[in-house]
Amino acid sequence: MNMQQVIEEGEQVLLHTYNRYPVVLDRGDGMYLYDIEGKKYLDFCAGIAVFALGYNNERYNSAVKAQVDKLLHTSNYYYSQPTVEAAKKLTKVTGMDRVFFTNSGAEAIEGAIKTARKYAYLRDKSTDHEIIAMNHSFHGRTMGALSVTGNEPYRQPFLPMIGNIRFADFNDLKSVKALVNDKTCAILMETVQGEGGIHPADPYFMKGIRQLCDDNDILLILDEIQCGMGRSGKMFAFEHYGITPDILTVAKAVGCGVPVGAFLMTERVAKASLVPGDHGTTYGGNPLAGCAVSTVLDLFEEYDILENVTRVGRYLSAKLEDLVMEYDCLLGQRGLGLMQGLVFDTSKATPGEIVKKALEKGLILITAGPDVIRFLPPLIVKEEHVDEMLAIFRECLL
Ligand SMILES: *Cc1c(COP(=O)(O)O)cnc(C)c1O
Repeated sequence: MNMQQVIEEGEQVLLHTYNRYPVVLDRGDGMYLYDIEGKKYLDFCAGIAVFALGYNNERYNSAVKAQVDKLLHTSNYYYSQPTVEAAKKLTKVTGMDRVFFTNSGAEAIEGAIKTARKYAYLRDKSTDHEIIAMNHSFHGRTMGALSVTGNEPYRQPFLPMIGNIRFADFNDLKSVKALVNDKTCAILMETVQGEGGIHPADPYFMKGIRQLCDDNDILLILDEIQCGMGRSGKMFAFEHYGITPDILTVAKAVGCGVPVGAFLMTERVAKASLVPGDHGTTYGGNPLAGCAVSTVLDLFEEYDILENVTRVGRYLSAKLEDLVMEYDCLLGQRGLGLMQGLVFDTSKATPGEIVKKALEKGLILITAGPDVIRFLPPLIVKEEHVDEMLAIFRECLL
């Protein structure tokens, strides 16, 4: 089949929940993807921050293949070695004490919400606790995750949401304080808002939120599904702020392609929340997922991914700043490490159109909200790839 045939057939059978680009991807290698007609694409999206190690990493592939031949799945009624290994490594790098593996980011958010509600329930036996989430946040598409996602058009057709969620403004401590009362059980936010347009938390905000939580026995849930796993230049973005969460969600790059996520918590929260019977999953953290996570964390260390992110991230953000000085249609640049956004004056250029043009020229990018283009390359990216990306990107800005 050629590309057009696959696209036409896909349009007949896939539920139309995405406006897909007219490209059929076939294989990947390092920083590059190839479509089924052999066209090469430089990838600055990484499957939305998933492929931290780039495509077709031999070490990762062979570890996962070996696990396929050994045992894929057990159910969570039994132990498996790869999963215990993954849990040991993930608790170590996050500084958390206990982990529950899920199949996706949204499921990790569901688990975090349940943990917070159970914690508060055990404390006072009431069932009307509130969670404070942020405007312009994104936490996933299942009902619970959608309920804490501060994007009205995503929510409206599916009302009613789960109850007792209040929305404050990200980086506006007063707006959060105004919502705190004795029913508040958790504050949930991304450390760096991703879909909302690449907004890192301000240090004063993050410290203030942590203090507010400590003062009122409120659990701080940080969603690092996109900004975690090295993308910010630290293993987790909260490390930039000198604070730690009570509950942490991860997904995307934690499996580098094998679908896996997790919610993690401190021992204090674990001891006072979920018990056997409270939560479960058939697939979550099966041996294949465990093997993927365990291998990813080994390779992160071996390749010194954090050093690379810090160095190339600095290079990328300086180059993007240059673009902002140069082009009228660009208003600013922001981000941490290899999670960068360029803000457009949409009266002069539309991010969606630029992303389309870039794709035609063999560069994969992604938007974030109506006025931002996001740069989320695999974390193995080098300066030369940034230069190659910029050469194509400049052609698209003309
Ligand atoms: C992608 C994302 C999610 C949802 O993850 P899924 O695996 O798509 O369910 C949640 N939170 C953040 C910050 C994300 O970027």
